[in-house]
Amino acid sequence: MRRAYDAVVVGSGYGGGVSASRLARAGLSVCVIERGRDVQTGEFPGRLPELRRELQVTGPRMRSGRATGLFDFRPGTDIHVLLGCGLGGGSLINAGVALRPDDRVFADAAWPEEVRRDGLLDEGFARASAMLRPSRYPRPSELAKYRALEAAGETLNKKPFAAPVVVSFEETVNPAGITQPACTLCGDCCAGCNVGAKNTIAITYLPDAKAHGAELFAELTVLRVAKEGDHWRVFFAPTEGATVVPSFVDAKTVVLSAGTLGSTEILLRSRELGLDVSDRLGERFSANGDIIAFALGGEGRVNGIGVGHPPKFAGDAIGACVTGEIEFNDDRRLDHSMFIQEGVLPSALAPLLPVFFLSGGRLIGAAQSLIQGVYRGPLQHLYTFFVVSHDEAKGRITLDNDVAQVAWPGVAEQEVYARIDAILSKAAAAVGARYIKSPLSITSVGSKPATAHPLGGCGIGESARSGVVDHKCRVFDGKGGVHQGLYVCDGAIIPRSIGVNPLLTITALAERAMIHVARDHNLGFDVAPRGSLARPSPFRNC
Ligand SMILES: Cc1cc2nc3c(=O)[nH]c(=O)nc-3n(C[C@H](O)[C@H](O)[C@H](O)COP(=O)(O)OP(=O)(O)OC[C@H]3O[C@@H](n4cnc5c(N)ncnc54)[C@H](O)[C@@H]3O)c2cc1C
Ligand code: SF4
Repeated sequence: MRRAYDAVVVGSGYGGGVSASRLARAGLSVCVIERGRDVQTGEFPGRLPELRRELQVTGPRMRSGRATGLFDFRPGTDIHVLLGCGLGGGSLINAGVALRPDDRVFADAAWPEEVRRDGLLDEGFARASAMLRPSRYPRPSELAKYRALEAAGETLNKKPFAAPVVVSFEETVNPAGITQPACTLCGDCCAGCNVGAKNTIAITYLPDAKAHGAELFAELTVLRVAKEGDHWRVFFAPTEGATVVPSFVDAKTVVLSAGTLGSTEILLRSRELGLDVSDRLGERFSANGDIIAFALGGEGRVNGIGVGHPPKFAGDAIGACVTGEIEFNDDRRLDHSMFIQEGVLPSALAPLLPVFFLSGGRLIGAAQSLIQGVYRGPLQHLYTFFVVSHDEAKGRITLDNDVAQVAWPGVAEQEVYARIDAILSKAAAAVGARYIKSPLSITSVGSKPATAHPLGGCGIGESARSGVVDHKCRVFDGKGGVHQGLYVCDGAIIPRSIGVNPLLTITALAERAMIHVARDHNLGFDVAPRGSLARPSPFRNC
């Protein structure tokens, strides 16, 4: 690593990938620092021991697992959070559902007026879609889990439709010039795609950034940032060597894209050592009304357990992690709107599933699954539901023993969870299945809400009185201005729940912010695809 770059990007998920690609395309020298590992296609966990090695658990007074584990679980006193860790961030282990929020979300006064007015949000969504290429599986009714959702939806008078997911269902060369094979419908998206068909940040924005000169450094954790004269100093240490004296790198522009918990943690630490920031830092944490729940015992097969690649079981196609969804759109109450999506559990979890459900005492006959394998026994009938909706965004991220922690007293009592339970119980009963809110509900982990969609902490706002960053994602300095050259671009800036899975919105907001960076600094970049088979992009210059 050099001593200085034009720009340092911290983290390599959606926000980091966009920032690195666009700043490198603008001709800046760019350094990306990522705490996780560079996990290649084919190296994602396919078996339980591999999955266990990829699990890290961090609380203020405990840590287990290696600090570069792909699955970063943050148990909380009120709510738990699951994060991705690696070059590509959450994109490596997510389900890839890519939806644009209802317009009413952006009409909320929580967003600065410019976000609605300057037209660049639409451009951001267009650019995000051109790179990540969401598509819908063309033959969803061939998949048992989609038909199972249709059956469950009947009683709710709702028909499912195929969900847009960032998956390549045909062989392609993507806009970053990477050849991607077609999805094998193995269902293992949430353990990492070993086929290379999921359009992750690791095979889209990051290689694009690298091809334009960005330098990527993995397994280094950024601790804090500080202003040094006219530039920023970024302090970091090896992820697995917390005791090592931190090194630093300098840059005129620093983009914090370490995710909701990561970016907020870095700013909280930087504030402790003198950086002036808004008092709103840490506020407006939202879990995006997001839950995972189950139903078991219905008559129809669901086939909701992945088979992985190469497949562990030769049977029907499973489908990408999410294929179908049901939308509940409430015209009068945005906060009552929600999406129910059918999900797949990764194959590496298969040996644990009978144990989970037996230990909850809910699955009579799970032993049969142990003997016959989860693909033949009663667990063939296991429904996994992902639900995304709206919550009150009243969590607060603070530093406890130098670790970001979410405090949200009363989070579980929010109406949204009761609403979701009522709908899922009804849907499960209609197909003769039993609703299981959590197979671990008798444990302290399973009795609290958990989210994979953490948002907020560095909320966007009109001023430091209402937010932590302005509409261009520049960090407010707490004195009525902004810190020149210091940005947050990731899920941390989203000031409220958005009611849909957040990857597309985070990407779009980062694309929008990069257009502003370019305009403000007289930079230009094109976003033309690099792949020879890729469709030419209609977007050229910002
Ligand atoms: C199992 C699962 C399923 C999901 N399914 C979906 C879905 O279907 N659709 C959807 O829209 N969303 C989904 N999500 C959520 C989505 O993946 C996240 O919202 C998204 O990844 C957040 O993007 P980001 O850029 O804010 O941060 P991230 O993608 O989390 O990236 C942040 C990066 O910064 C790194 N980092 C953190 N701290 C530091 C530090 N101090 N120094 C250096 N690097 C650091 C992290 O390792 C990470 O790579 C899912 C998430 C999970 C866990
Ligand atoms: S279903 Fe399998 S092949 Fe398809 S995107 Fe998911 S993990 Fe990759």
